[in-house]
Amino acid sequence: MRTYEKKCRRCDGTGYFGSRGGCFGCGGNAQVPGTGYVTVRVLTPEEKAQNALELGARKAVADIATKYPGDPAFYALQGFTKLETQEPERFAKLIQSVANGRILQVFEALVCYGAECQH
Ligand SMILES: [Zn+2]
Repeated sequence: MRTYEKKCRRCDGTGYFGSRGGCFGCGGNAQVPGTGYVTVRVLTPEEKAQNALELGARKAVADIATKYPGDPAFYALQGFTKLETQEPERFAKLIQSVANGRILQVFEALVCYGAECQH
């Protein structure tokens, strides 16, 4: 991801907006003027593709979870979030497995992971 600064459109780069003092659009508030600039974040094509894959995997897991209501669905979704936040490398592999069509195996692994079973 790269970022760049762009003139704030709300205040046209002045940092002030209307009669309310500082511009909220670029980080100001009623007491403090804004910077007049906003940071624009641009994803690379690879990052966009990865985001799309992750979104697809999340949806696939949520979809299959509806077929196994109760504990399995709960543990799978919990496992998904836990893996994403705690083990990014394994999470990336999971995303790839879903992209390769192994959703059922992924779901079973997630149920186990979310439930912290011992195999
Ligand atoms: Zn502004």
